[in-house]
Amino acid sequence: MGFKLDRQRSDLTLKVDVVIVGAGPAGSTAAYYLANKFNRKVFLIDKAFFPRDKPCGGYLTSRVFTRFNYLRKVKNKIIEVPTYGSYFYGPDLSQLEWRMENPVGYLVLRIKFDNFLKDLAVSSGVQFIEGQEVVDISIRKNTAQIMLANGHSIHGNLIIGADGVRSIIAKKSGIYSKLDKGICVVTEIKINKEEIDEIFGEKRPTYYFYGFKDIIGYGWLFPKKNHLNIGIGGPSNAGREIGRLFPIFINYLKQENLVPVSIKIKEKFSAALIPTSTALYLNHSYSDRVVLVGDALGVASSVSGEGIYQSMASGEDAAIIANQALDEQKFDTEFLRQYEKLWKKDLANELKMVGNIMQLGSSGDKREILRKIKYFFERMRNEKELFEYFARIFFGFK
Ligand SMILES: Cc1cc2nc3c(=O)[nH]c(=O)nc-3n(C[C@H](O)[C@H](O)[C@H](O)COP(=O)(O)OP(=O)(O)OC[C@H]3O[C@@H](n4cnc5c(N)ncnc54)[C@H](O)[C@@H]3O)c2cc1C
Repeated sequence: MGFKLDRQRSDLTLKVDVVIVGAGPAGSTAAYYLANKFNRKVFLIDKAFFPRDKPCGGYLTSRVFTRFNYLRKVKNKIIEVPTYGSYFYGPDLSQLEWRMENPVGYLVLRIKFDNFLKDLAVSSGVQFIEGQEVVDISIRKNTAQIMLANGHSIHGNLIIGADGVRSIIAKKSGIYSKLDKGICVVTEIKINKEEIDEIFGEKRPTYYFYGFKDIIGYGWLFPKKNHLNIGIGGPSNAGREIGRLFPIFINYLKQENLVPVSIKIKEKFSAALIPTSTALYLNHSYSDRVVLVGDALGVASSVSGEGIYQSMASGEDAAIIANQALDEQKFDTEFLRQYEKLWKKDLANELKMVGNIMQLGSSGDKREILRKIKYFFERMRNEKELFEYFARIFFGFK
């Protein structure tokens, strides 16, 4: 249930400990930790009304449940199905198989998953304000102020910018003005469970098609419980090409009997942006009274597209430092530098590894990059250890 701005206007003049902008996995996780573990007063604001969907594959690596162990007991409520490994296709459509006996990950519907995380924060005492867009901030000596589109404002000691890939908090705080992004189109089609079982079996695999029709990116197919999630992504300047390839990709999947011929591509499929490992290249991830988390910070993997785990991890890290800042009543950059140290300890190694893989495939012209991707797939086919290493990074085991 959302907090009503009109009826409880006077509450807004109270100063809360932390104002979190954005109730995706990053913001809701930060809010949950601050309220549940540290007993802090938190406002969580989102411009959308919940449950809201987010264009996404909805793949959770198993480390989500290892680290955020409070989610283990509700796993069955959150997930649609476990997945047992993947098929990776190179640009020549030859296939590499990495299948396991035990689940290596889980598929969720974001509309359910994100709402669940938000509800968990709310049930811990977080005040949730939905349907309200943050349009500006003002940082003063003794307070951080958030301005909403409806003219209200809210004060806190600290702002956590969890407002995704187009973060207004990043811009208004001066942390950065532009982020490197990739672009994806994605659709999620409802379909009978029996039909999906028949194609993929009960132990669902996932599918990745690197360099499909020479795109510098990849297509994916995730068979969920009773949805097929299909998408294709690449660099931000390839939007037109990706839009053109999407129906071709779906037709290819139909030819390969991976998608029932009867399905129709939704007239409206979603296009969405994903940051491409920007966090490491930022001068700072904080400014006075502000820290960034999740996609606003740029911690997703541009190799696998995974960003949910890293967003939740940076949300937890931000909550830990916010709590210490509140204990010591220190909110300046000098103090918040500790946040950057903490998330880097947590995530910098994997971001560096992803960066190294990306470098292999991003220098040179398009033909040269495709040649390198092909070569990398050939090597993985011949060197089992290299493939194992790639798959383990891909699924968040390293
Ligand atoms: C097509 C696609 C497929 C993906 N597939 C996967 C996958 O399978 N697995 C995976 O782990 N990751 C995947 N990702 C990445 C993942 O979706 C993101 O990394 C993750 O959602 C980031 O979480 P977040 O909380 O930082 O931001 P978001 O989930 O984007 O949430 C940000 C929230 O902020 C709110 N907001 C924004 N601006 C304002 C404002 N001004 N005022 C108030 N509220 C605001 C938005 O409404 C939104 O609810 C995918 C991404 C894309 C684009």
